[in-house]
Amino acid sequence: ALQCGIVGLPNVGKSTLFNALSSAKAEAANFPFCTIEPNVGVVTVPDSRLQILEKLVNPQRVMPTVIEFVDIAGLVKGASKGEGLGNKFLANIREVDAIVHVIRCFNDDNVVHVAGNVDPIFDKEVIDTELQLKDLESVEKKIARIEKIAKSGDAKAKKDLEILKLFKSGLEAGKNARAIDVEKEDLEAIRDIHLLTIKPVLYVANVDESSILTGNEHVNKLKENVKDENAEVIMLCAAIESQIAEFDDPEEKEMFLGEYGLEESGLNRLIRAAYSLLNLITYFTAGVQEVRAWTIQKGWKAPAAAGVIHTDFERGFIKSEVIKLADYEKYKSEAACRENGKIAIEGKEYIVQDGDIMHFRFNV
Ligand code: GDP
Repeated sequence: ALQCGIVGLPNVGKSTLFNALSSAKAEAANFPFCTIEPNVGVVTVPDSRLQILEKLVNPQRVMPTVIEFVDIAGLVKGASKGEGLGNKFLANIREVDAIVHVIRCFNDDNVVHVAGNVDPIFDKEVIDTELQLKDLESVEKKIARIEKIAKSGDAKAKKDLEILKLFKSGLEAGKNARAIDVEKEDLEAIRDIHLLTIKPVLYVANVDESSILTGNEHVNKLKENVKDENAEVIMLCAAIESQIAEFDDPEEKEMFLGEYGLEESGLNRLIRAAYSLLNLITYFTAGVQEVRAWTIQKGWKAPAAAGVIHTDFERGFIKSEVIKLADYEKYKSEAACRENGKIAIEGKEYIVQDGDIMHFRFNV
């Protein structure tokens, strides 16, 4: 599964959030949360379409899809120079597919702030700077490696060098790599150095209980600051989330949320936002044994999507039958969809759409 790394300064609520994620009771049940490593958690992706299909199909079990979160603690000022095990944590970030940056937006005199007072912009910049410095190091290393080759007249090296220099000056100016304006094909020049600040990011504004509906000045400042980044800001209260996560019974959970005037847990919003940040979509299979959600990358064709279920499905792919969820809801069964001509037969070039109900035909 794809992974989101949770980063942020110490004492901003990362562990609280990670623990809430890891103890959250699976929405559609029967996907036991499992911890692969102490700092890696698998969570189910909440998806109300599964409940719709469950009602229609009445299967023996319902399997939601999952994503993974990694708690990356220990980022401090100076991490890029190896402070506080900095290099180890930066290496952890290199391995994740997207970044969830938790930012403290709660006032609590009992919780020490590393820099003395709550300042979301300052905090964000401390982390950004460390990641940028590390990226600068990677870019400079590659420049040193290919400079000679470029001088000897190698066209590709020359072009790559140009692009690398663009990244170098951008990073030096305090930009994240993702904000540096280059053509898509130019990204080839930096692919092998796995920059940290090119990974997609979303921000979690961790507020106190009293600000959970209204927000506060810190959140406003943060939103204003990241306006140009096109990044999502999810506001939640990690302390409340850790309490919500304890409820087994959906009704009790709902009541608890209601007491705070909330309709949905922040974790659910976060999980869904992370999922789309990773450019992931879901298709379904629906049978009496199992209704199941499957994760693919946006833009995948039918054979690749089938391969998520089993490599044989991809290798022996013949065609797929596709029903749109709205049709399934309207006609209530696969058979009725068939009678009404609502099953499309699609071949190898079909690009699977979010929410498609798929049935693959294949040779073994
Ligand atoms: P980490 O160092 O970023 O992992 O931060 P922790 O999750 O350990 O939290 C640091 C401290 O802040 C703990 O004492 C938490 O109880 C407290 N904390 C975390 N989230 C909240 C919150 O939403 N509201 C309040 N008031 N305190 C919080």
